[in-house]
Amino acid sequence: MSAAAKCRQEPGVIVPVVNLNRCEGKGDCAEVCPEQVFEIRRVDDADYRELGMLGRLKLRVHGMQVAYTPRADACRSCGLCVTACPERAITLARAT
Ligand code: SF4
Ligand code: SF4
Repeated sequence: MSAAAKCRQEPGVIVPVVNLNRCEGKGDCAEVCPEQVFEIRRVDDADYRELGMLGRLKLRVHGMQVAYTPRADACRSCGLCVTACPERAITLARAT
């Protein structure tokens, strides 16, 4: 096993959390993630309603697209998405 493979976290321990008030939905995270964790799609109505005024305005400007994490349980905590996100919208957190 290579050194890089050894330091990868087991899946299911850490998950990426997207701050939808910051996300612009352009998909840099989806491009870099080696585990295909992200999906860029239209924001859910319930999530949209929870955004602040600025977040809603920003989303409308960006076509209502945001990043969701349907395969969060595959995340290996490599951190590539955190670095790639131009809006600093992603944090890594312990899975609950
Ligand atoms: S890179 Fe950041 S701003 Fe872009 S879609 Fe992903 S979470 Fe959203
Ligand atoms: S930390 Fe790595 S594996 Fe996890 S979602 Fe981000 S890019 Fe994908």
